[in-house]
Amino acid sequence: PPLLTARGIRVAYGGFTALDGVDLDLPPGRVTAVVGPNGAGKSTLFHCLAGTVRPARGRIGYDGRDITRLAAHARTRLGVARTFQQLAVFPTLTVTENVRVGAEQGRIVDPGAVERSLRLLGLDGPVRVLPAAGLPTGTLRRVELARALAGGPRVLLLDEPAAGLDTAEVAALARVLKALAADGTALLVVEHDLDLVAGLADVVHVMAAGRIVASGPPGRVLDGH
Ligand code: ADP
Ligand code: ADP
Repeated sequence: PPLLTARGIRVAYGGFTALDGVDLDLPPGRVTAVVGPNGAGKSTLFHCLAGTVRPARGRIGYDGRDITRLAAHARTRLGVARTFQQLAVFPTLTVTENVRVGAEQGRIVDPGAVERSLRLLGLDGPVRVLPAAGLPTGTLRRVELARALAGGPRVLLLDEPAAGLDTAEVAALARVLKALAADGTALLVVEHDLDLVAGLADVVHVMAAGRIVASGPPGRVLDGH
């Protein structure tokens, strides 16, 4: 069964309907992608799953429980982690400190989990003691991902994880995300980079005007990919 489910999600901003009855399942061990043009409602759907937008109608379920009214930080503590599109590291903290503090959010984090997370992202070398300020975008994205992973999430929500990365970095990112899925994590990727989606996703949902208009494996849903 899916770990995270969205059913009949509706969101309106004033009189404008941003999501108009969206259903989505995130099964463990699978990468699910959401694509579509600007304004389709991808970010709004992401925020509904992360708990930063409250739907006007519909239900969000996690592991058999209704979390529709659960705040974002409580979802994180339950095991639903997210990354941010706008990188938000603490500039004066080191890479290691950023990963530890980012994972803590008011609870005790296993130091071993922080170490594993740093290692998985290739951040266990000299870079670990550098302040985050001034690090290149690709490294900051790895810090961001390591922070989300250090809490040992069962669901990982990724908002534009390839933004600002070069081709080699995107390939490295895809390897890490595939390894996480192989370990049983349920992944959601909201992404503009269709090459990444084609190589990574098990299922792609195409959104337009607040609805999911097509779903299937990337080879069937993404033209020319
Ligand atoms: P996408 O991520 O696919 O670009 P969004 O979810 O960001 O789509 O936006 C969907 C629609 O909702 C867009 O038309 C956008 O302008 C509108 N929208 C998003 N956030 C807000 C907001 N806070 N207030 C008003 N309208 C918004
Ligand atoms: P390599 O060139 O061998 O990938 P890197 O130092 O670039 O070496 O990466 C080290 C580790 O971090 C590898 O496991 C790689 O998959 C991962 N990695 C590199 N860049 C990123 C990224 N932008 N996002 C996620 N993981 C990355």
